[in-house]
Amino acid sequence: MREINVTQKLEKSKDFLRKLQEESGQDPGQCFQCMKCTGGCPVQFAMDYPPSQIMRMLQDGLVDEVLNSFTIWTCATCSTCTARCPRDIDIAQLMDTLRVMAFHKRRFNKAKNMRVFHTVFMDSIGSHGRLYEVGLALGLNLGTGNLLQDTDIGLPMFMKGKLSLLPHNIKGMNEIKRLYDYAKKIGE
Ligand code: SF4
Ligand code: SF4
Repeated sequence: MREINVTQKLEKSKDFLRKLQEESGQDPGQCFQCMKCTGGCPVQFAMDYPPSQIMRMLQDGLVDEVLNSFTIWTCATCSTCTARCPRDIDIAQLMDTLRVMAFHKRRFNKAKNMRVFHTVFMDSIGSHGRLYEVGLALGLNLGTGNLLQDTDIGLPMFMKGKLSLLPHNIKGMNEIKRLYDYAKKIGE
């Protein structure tokens, strides 16, 4: 079993933990490990660490392990954990903040494909104000190098007229573009 020097870890990660608390408005130190968040999480089966364990890891200063985890990218932001937490911790908000921080630190280890999905999805919203499905599929396949992914679903959908080859912009695209550019700027 790997030994962890918690005092050392906490010392090294204190700046990150302070920033996490400031940006999310949540204090993982409040968690008393009741596991109600984990019990209600609908995607816990696909995570490498359940949400309650992420909280415990943050308390122990295991920042690298949290940022490299698959969990923060698997979280669907459904907020079930937040509604169940007896300590009123907004775990969904914490997960979201962790994702943003991991993104800025370019920590995608196990979640490389999810980063590609997030980028292509957001670019589609920024360019068209809505999801352009064919563009998303192409961008995802090119970005992940998995060129034939989902062609077995996409092709029949296209043949039945369920997918449009060309993108359609929503009304008020200028406002969306302005909002998108502004969000990008403050996120940098
Ligand atoms: S917000 Fe994320 S961590 Fe919380 S229950 Fe939903 S999927 Fe699980
Ligand atoms: S529900 Fe709240 S207190 Fe309980 S383990 Fe999860 S974060 Fe901690």
